Amino acid sequence: MQPVQGIHHITAIASDPQRNLDFYHGLLGQRLVKKTVNFDDPGTYHFYFADKTGTPGTVLTFFPWRHMGRGVRGNGEVGATAYSIRPASVDFWCTRLEENGVAVTAAPTRFGNDVLSFTDPDGMVIELVVNAEQQTFVPWDNGPVPGEHELRGFHSATLWVTNAAATDEILTAHLGYQLVGSEGNRTRYQGAGNDIGLYIDLLEQPELGQGRLGAGSVHHIAYRTVDDSEQAEYLALLQEAGYGVSPVMDRQYFHSIYFREPNGVLFEIATDAPGFLYDEAVDELGTHLKLPNWLEPRRRQIEESVVPVALPAVERGQEV
Ligand code: ZN
Repeated sequence: MQPVQGIHHITAIASDPQRNLDFYHGLLGQRLVKKTVNFDDPGTYHFYFADKTGTPGTVLTFFPWRHMGRGVRGNGEVGATAYSIRPASVDFWCTRLEENGVAVTAAPTRFGNDVLSFTDPDGMVIELVVNAEQQTFVPWDNGPVPGEHELRGFHSATLWVTNAAATDEILTAHLGYQLVGSEGNRTRYQGAGNDIGLYIDLLEQPELGQGRLGAGSVHHIAYRTVDDSEQAEYLALLQEAGYGVSPVMDRQYFHSIYFREPNGVLFEIATDAPGFLYDEAVDELGTHLKLPNWLEPRRRQIEESVVPVALPAVERGQEV
C-alpha cells in the first residue's frame, strides 16, 4: 500500500454564501470549480475553490450556512490552512489584502519560510507560506490574480492538538507520513506526493480547550489516495487498528471514508478520481448548480431553497 500523497482537500464552514464566493473567488483568485449542494442537507450549497481544474492539493470547500454562528478556535481541529506563494508575491498580497480591508500579520518564520496570516470573513485562519519550491498546479489564466502571483496550492495545514503523540502515531504508522522536523511546540510531517499539499504540522497546546464548530471552523481535512482499491486497503487497516471508520461514500468527484483521529480532528481519505471534470467541461467548471443523480428529481425544490449567488466580476489585480 502506498503512503498518503498529501492533502486532497479541506472543508470548512462559512455563513453568507455570496461573501464566501467574493472572498475566495474574487479576492484570493481561487476558481469556483464546482457549485453543488451539501448531499446530506441539499438546501445548503457546497462550494469548491481550487486551481483551474480542481487539482487535489488545491481544493478548499465550504458549506455556507447563512445563520451559523461563529465557531471557537481550539484543539481538535485544523487551526490554520496554508497556501504557497512565491517570494516575489509578498508585496502583491499584502497590498491586495489590505486594500480590501483584510489585516495581514507576519507570523514568525517557520522552518525557514516567512508566513503571512489573515482571517477570512468568517474568522477562518488562512496563511501564505513564502517559498520557491516547485508546486504543480494548473494556473487559472482568466482569474482575477495575475498568473505570477497566484496562490500555488496548499503548502500545509496546522492541526491544533492536546497531545501530539497520539496524532503522530496515526500519521506515521497508518498514513505513511514522515516526521521532518520540529520547532518549539510545532512538529512537521511530510506526505509522499509530488510537491503540493505536502505538509501537516501538529501544534501541541495542552492548556487550550477543544474548539467549537461553527462558521470559520474547518470541518475536516481529506488526504489523497490514488484509487478505490487503495482506499479499501486503508479502510481495512484503520478498522483493524481500532478506528471507527465510515463506509465508502460517493462524493461524486471523489470517494471518501471518514474517521476521527485521537485528538478529535475529523480525517477523510479521498480518491483522486474521478475529479471535477466528471460532470462539467473545463471552461464551464462552477457555472452550473450540479447535483448527483439521486438529487436530480428534487432539482426544482433545491434550486428554490438555496440563496441565489453571483460570481464576482473578475477584476485583475495591479502589479505592485
Ligand atoms: Zn471532504
